[in-house]
Amino acid sequence: MKLIPLSQVTVASEVAVTRKLNDANRFDRPQRLGYDCTAMTTCYAYDPIEQKHTLAGHPEHRGRLASTMALLQQDGILERLRKIDATAATDDILRAVHPSAYVRYVERMASSGLNHLDPDTYVVPGSYEAASASAGALVNVTKAVATGQAYNGMSLMRPPGHHALADRGMGFCLFANVAIAARYAQRQLGLDQILIIDWDVHHGNGTESIFYDDPAVAFFSTHQYPFYPGTGAARDRGGGNGIGYTLNVPFPAGVGDAGYARAFDELLTPFARRIRPDLILVSAGYDAHWDDPLAMEMLSLAGYAALARRVVALADELCNGRLVLALEGGYHLDVLAHGVLNTLRILEDPAQEISDPFGPARALERPIDDLLADLKNLHKL
Ligand code: ZN
Repeated sequence: MKLIPLSQVTVASEVAVTRKLNDANRFDRPQRLGYDCTAMTTCYAYDPIEQKHTLAGHPEHRGRLASTMALLQQDGILERLRKIDATAATDDILRAVHPSAYVRYVERMASSGLNHLDPDTYVVPGSYEAASASAGALVNVTKAVATGQAYNGMSLMRPPGHHALADRGMGFCLFANVAIAARYAQRQLGLDQILIIDWDVHHGNGTESIFYDDPAVAFFSTHQYPFYPGTGAARDRGGGNGIGYTLNVPFPAGVGDAGYARAFDELLTPFARRIRPDLILVSAGYDAHWDDPLAMEMLSLAGYAALARRVVALADELCNGRLVLALEGGYHLDVLAHGVLNTLRILEDPAQEISDPFGPARALERPIDDLLADLKNLHKL
């Protein structure tokens, strides 16, 4: 098969290209795992422009990706992956989710020096460029996966996006990266049904609000609750035509590997099979780790890897492997770096060994039987 270089794929032709690839030419996983086709590998996007968005003393600072990229370089995994450019999202792409006035507001606030969009969310000169590239990187990875340039992929950019509302930045997030990629996949790449999985420890309130009434973008989130930003109750299941397409799993503090795995097996798996997505997007935050300084869940790195394996298996089962991850939170620098490395290993080959230098949580995890039973009942799963 002759793959069309991304640079030659115009927006007008993408739908046709995508459909053609979907229908006849996608490789199955065994072929890919044997590296029979070097084009169908895992991809990633990164650009050092993200370093321009930083503030000393703030948890969401440039050291997060500096340490992660250093570990990935040291490991050598990036040499096996396809690199995707993190070009800035155009105004048209951003405006599929954000009003033009908000996009200009972020640009203006950033250009005039240190400002805050809310008490948690800083902008500095360079933040607009970094945020546009963070959104654009995820769009480009999505395009690469949807058009058959890569089997799956991950955008390694910041600032994160899942708290950003359509018209307001919050929670360290400027633009709603995952929502922007979902809209792009639907409108420019011809994919109809999207499933967003959010395993960041905080509820992805921005993503949820953008698609709350929309059955074409389903949303599954595990998060500590009650906790920042305060949303994500079990009863919030979508509105209007979107009722039933939002599944919130509000965990008490102290849930670990077993609880998360059960939520993915007993809730996410039947939910995803009901949704039948054409693409799975993941808001991948690593702040549910037991040693993260901002939250109180108890996942280990091995537990995170087990979630990643489940998501890869769901994508293989439901949408020809089409799976795109976006980096969200994660504030213990070494945990974040190893979490991302393990995730990339699993995207490349779910059977690949992972590393967990931090080991399991040091306390017994909190049981969640009642919560799971309630959610199964509420969502008829
Ligand atoms: Zn988070």
